[in-house]
Amino acid sequence: MGQLKRKAIYPGSFDPITNGHVDIIERLVGLYDELTVLIANSSDKTYLFSAEERMHLAKESLKSLPTVSVAMHDGLTVEYAKSIQAPVIIRGLRAVADFEYEMAMANMNKHLNNKIETLIVFADPKFGYVSSRLIKGVAKYTSQLEGLVPLVVLEAIRKKFGQ
Ligand code: ADP
Repeated sequence: MGQLKRKAIYPGSFDPITNGHVDIIERLVGLYDELTVLIANSSDKTYLFSAEERMHLAKESLKSLPTVSVAMHDGLTVEYAKSIQAPVIIRGLRAVADFEYEMAMANMNKHLNNKIETLIVFADPKFGYVSSRLIKGVAKYTSQLEGLVPLVVLEAIRKKFGQ
C-alpha cells in the first residue's frame, strides 16, 4: 500500500477568485499533497459569474500549481470531502467579522461529519480588505483592481462590465 496522501479542500463561492484566495492556496501548496479548490454552486445563491466561468477563472489563475485542482460541487462540502477522502476543510479568516460565520459553519460541518476538521488560515493583511463581494461592487464602476485579482479575472470583469 502506498503512503497516504495529505489531501485538503478549500471550498467557497470564488465569484470571482481574488488574490486573497490565491495567496491562501499558494501557502497551502507545501502542506498538502493534493489541494482541491471546491467551487460551490448553490441554487439558493445568485452569482455574477456562472459556475463554468468561476471554474475557468480559478483554473487559469492556479495553472502554475500542479498539485492544485479545481472542482465544482452543489451540495454539502463534507460529502464532497468524504468522497475524495480529504479529512481537511480549509477556510480563510480576514477579520473578526468573518469569525462567527466561519465558526458556525465549522461546527455544523463537525456535526455532519466529525472525522473532517476545518482549519482556519489567516489572510495576509495586505489582502484583508479584499472580498469577492467588494470586488464586484467596485468593478461596476472601475477596473482599477490591479493587484487585487488575477489578470484573467481583471479581463473577465472588464468584459462583463464593458470597460
Ligand atoms: P463563501 O461564499 O463560501 O464565503 P468566498 O469565495 O467568499 O466563499 O470565500 C471562500 C473562503 O476564502 C472563505 O473562507 C473566506 O473567508 C476566504 N477568503 C475570502 N477572501 C479572502 C482573502 N482576501 N484572504 C483570505 N481568505 C479569504
